[in-house]
Amino acid sequence: MNVVFLGPPGAGKGTQSVMVAEYFEMGYISTGNIMRSALKSGSELGNLAKSYIEKGELVPDSLVIKLIKEVLTLNPVENGYVLDGFPRTIAQAEALDNMGMVVNKVIFLDASEDTILARMSGRRVCEACGKSYHLISKPAKVDGICDKCGGTLIKRTDDNLETIVERLKEYHKKTEPLRQFYLNKKMLNFINGDGTIDDIQGKVIKAIKEGI
Ligand code: ADP
Ligand code: ZN
Repeated sequence: MNVVFLGPPGAGKGTQSVMVAEYFEMGYISTGNIMRSALKSGSELGNLAKSYIEKGELVPDSLVIKLIKEVLTLNPVENGYVLDGFPRTIAQAEALDNMGMVVNKVIFLDASEDTILARMSGRRVCEACGKSYHLISKPAKVDGICDKCGGTLIKRTDDNLETIVERLKEYHKKTEPLRQFYLNKKMLNFINGDGTIDDIQGKVIKAIKEGI
């Protein structure tokens, strides 16, 4: 089974999708995390993606599609993948189809603009492993330190108001059309992400279990 998480930035896709991958023992792929590690390491991909990410724009399809092909080939899994943040455009979704990857469920996690802004401004991520925290709703046990790996928690450079506004614009223009795309394919599960992490997780797991 393969599950795609879709929705506006800041709706909680990262948090929910990691929990789902653990729960169902599936592989987890976040294109955002991969880009951020590439950025940090100064690799070719990182250098190509940098200006887009910092402006809040989507990285060009050709680059992301090449990347996801590599990642899927290099990391075969038994129970399928949870894809967090891919596909984000119709072209990416079509590329996934062409790779022969069957998407069984699409979890569309939406949230109000107030929730999105509050989540992104309080978000902190582990510099080392990419795990995501929130100052209020999901604090680390020790302030500033990752529970999982002991890495330092930082604010993402694209989590400032100006870039957030750009990311939302990109989302409405390029990613939101995927909602109709997957609705037509009868794969879409719409979930309101305005509640608590545990409440939403319950709804997400239920949606995935139904129809397996
Ligand atoms: P969020 O969902 O919070 O916006 P992500 O961590 O998933 O953030 O992605 C961060 C940035 O990485 C995006 O703003 C975009 O520039 C780039 N990115 C991630 N996934 C994709 C994708 N599938 N296509 C194009 N760009 C992507
Ligand atoms: Zn960590």
